[in-house]
Amino acid sequence: MIGCPEILVCDVTPAAELNVPLDTTAPSIARAFLRRTYCDAHHARVLDEAELLVSELITNGVKHGAPPITLRVTCDGTSGLRVAVRDGSPRAPQARDAGPEDDSGRGIALVDMLSTSWGVETSDLGKTTWFTLT
Ligand SMILES: [Zn+2]
Repeated sequence: MIGCPEILVCDVTPAAELNVPLDTTAPSIARAFLRRTYCDAHHARVLDEAELLVSELITNGVKHGAPPITLRVTCDGTSGLRVAVRDGSPRAPQARDAGPEDDSGRGIALVDMLSTSWGVETSDLGKTTWFTLT
């Protein structure tokens, strides 16, 4: 049918947001929050990848970002599970600077490899690194 609109907002699972503590418990707290709030109806198959990638982004945020760190989980219906991590530093993650001892660059490389799409949006207030999985 011509003009049939894509489903862009999920009617099953509402968007959820969490302020993540800036310490070593952050990745496990973020994974637990994701498991509680992700959309089981549309995206049960991508939960493992989403947990892995959210750990990487949160670890990056804790190590290199600035508080507050906010995790947002959104379902866009069948078009994707969107996970965004916002922090208070406008400095974008630098994948190319990573050495063998620096797992922050590997984190972004993993996001690039496994996600359907991803990106970084910066503003005066900080940056948001996001990815989608379908
Ligand atoms: Zn959904």
